[in-house]
Amino acid sequence: MSVTRSTFDEVMVPCYNPLPMVITHGEGSYLFDSNDHAYLDFTSGIAVNCLGHHHKKVCKIIKKQSKKLLHVSNIFVNDKTLTLAQKLVQKTPFTKVFFQNSGAEANEAALKLARRRAYDLYGEDKYEIISFLHGFHGRTLFSVNVGGQEKYVKGFGPKIDGVTHLPFNDIQALKNAISDKTCAIMLELIQGEGGILPVDPDFLQEVVKLAHEHNALVIVDEVQTGVGRCGTFYAFEQFGFTPDIMTSAKGLGAGLPIGAVLTTDDIAKHFSVGTHGSTFGGNPLACAVGSYVVDTISDPQFLAEVRRKGEILKKGLEDISERYSCFKEVRGRGLLVGAELTGKYENNGAVIQKLCAENDLFILLAGGNVLRLAPPLNISEEDLNLGIQRLAMAIASFAPEAQHK
Ligand SMILES: *Cc1c(COP(=O)(O)O)cnc(C)c1O
Repeated sequence: MSVTRSTFDEVMVPCYNPLPMVITHGEGSYLFDSNDHAYLDFTSGIAVNCLGHHHKKVCKIIKKQSKKLLHVSNIFVNDKTLTLAQKLVQKTPFTKVFFQNSGAEANEAALKLARRRAYDLYGEDKYEIISFLHGFHGRTLFSVNVGGQEKYVKGFGPKIDGVTHLPFNDIQALKNAISDKTCAIMLELIQGEGGILPVDPDFLQEVVKLAHEHNALVIVDEVQTGVGRCGTFYAFEQFGFTPDIMTSAKGLGAGLPIGAVLTTDDIAKHFSVGTHGSTFGGNPLACAVGSYVVDTISDPQFLAEVRRKGEILKKGLEDISERYSCFKEVRGRGLLVGAELTGKYENNGAVIQKLCAENDLFILLAGGNVLRLAPPLNISEEDLNLGIQRLAMAIASFAPEAQHK
């Protein structure tokens, strides 16, 4: 039985519009389609495959664990889940972990935890959440409502009550909006889907100060920025503070689904027995791989390499822009890099993404106007430079007149 891209249109729900090829396997920083054609992968499954594809050690761990235990549920503890939780606690300032299977679920749990704590300590009126325009926190009804994109929420019935969206990095708007009814402020330190938009350090300082003055929690969504992506184990380390709750997912399983909520004892205690749960959350297979990911990526030398390669990537993009005047700005940290299009390239992100694929390079977009590059964290310098060359070729082949649909 054979499948093609048109099989997607026949049998799958149409909420995506995937590229024309059917991917069958991967190797290192490359993906291969059903014709065995190789593409350089600067998407990493949307910042997930942090160690690339067909990573020998990851495969070995999966094979070994599959013979031991795939799943037991949370009515038992198991060695692999406990080990990953222990590692996360050792390598961060947090003291408690709750596992989920995805970023949206981790954020859902974090938001529920913040509401539950406020309810326990201050009563039922303190449930308001402040979040930011262009933020993205996942697609469950609660997490998508906290995200700052109206188009993702419209048409799904009544909105979640008590969520306020403010302009990102606007201190005055925050001062005006926060009150004693606020139970949490949720943000990304670099808005990923929103366009690789970094938080302003002065603004972040106000977020923390105002939240704590109002007995509210700061929830940082590190689903995309975490696990080495920005060149430190978690991005908050670069901002000189510790969130009250942090969420992690994407890269944590190197391709297996996992999500985690990290917090303190004092906050965690409000998720008492029976208040929240998950059947699959923290399954031993994903956690066995997660432990290897944490050991590998938290290594200071590995992280220094991510930062070094991030600089090479940014420099490469700036050089392309000098030749073609295509980018208004190149920004980001580590190997999470955005290039905002300008001039004749403006708002042609999807066209450039297609041209990249024609030049054997897969890239991501953040909105319609920012190219988002997130290669595997262990990509070789050679492959990184090859990707930059291919991107330059895609930009060179862009002709707005010819591309108009
Ligand atoms: C991808 C992403 C999510 C959602 O994660 P899923 O695993 O798709 O549910 C949430 N927050 C941020 C910042 C993300 O980048």
